[in-house]
Amino acid sequence: MINVKRFVCESFDSNTYLLSSSTSKAVWLIDAGCTSGIIDGLNSNQYIECVFITHAHFDHIFQINEIVNRYPECRIYGSVSCLENLSSSKANLSWYRDIPVELQKGETNLIQCGDIVHLSEEISLMALHTPGHTEDSMTFFLENYVFTGDAYIPFLKTITKLKSGNKDKSLESLRKIASLCDSSTIISPGHGNTYLYSDTDLKTYLL
Ligand SMILES: [Zn+2]
Repeated sequence: MINVKRFVCESFDSNTYLLSSSTSKAVWLIDAGCTSGIIDGLNSNQYIECVFITHAHFDHIFQINEIVNRYPECRIYGSVSCLENLSSSKANLSWYRDIPVELQKGETNLIQCGDIVHLSEEISLMALHTPGHTEDSMTFFLENYVFTGDAYIPFLKTITKLKSGNKDKSLESLRKIASLCDSSTIISPGHGNTYLYSDTDLKTYLL
């Protein structure tokens, strides 16, 4: 069974999720906002094996290099444009905030819609392409958790005005996410609190 802990990056109010299991020394991250606190909190025998990036906006990737410097074997998963944008501070918008972030090294792995990554014998993650907020947005399903990044934030209208945003695609993505949730699903967004699916407005997007 997976344990999920939410860390809030104070400077940008973005969430990074730490995933762990009692049967594994490897741990996994969803996004890489402010990660130094996460790294410092790990036991000496634990290590970050993978990071799954929901989308490459600066507030979700700000400390990606800290992870790779500490754990050089760490694999970074993202969509095609996400992996491209990780290496461009203009594309990931960090340049405009005077905090340029570009991925310096590390093993990047393309993840596509429907891909399944096995984290351990009993834990697997499924990726869903959910464009709209950005073209590179992915949503990740793992047990009864769904990590939506900025593709869906409960009770907030998805921002589609930034580069590669698209309102119609966003609506389609919200429908896709909703269709894969049930009453036990825990919505874990890129900003704000987690919610049970049934307590959110996501169900209103069901066709
Ligand atoms: Zn964003």
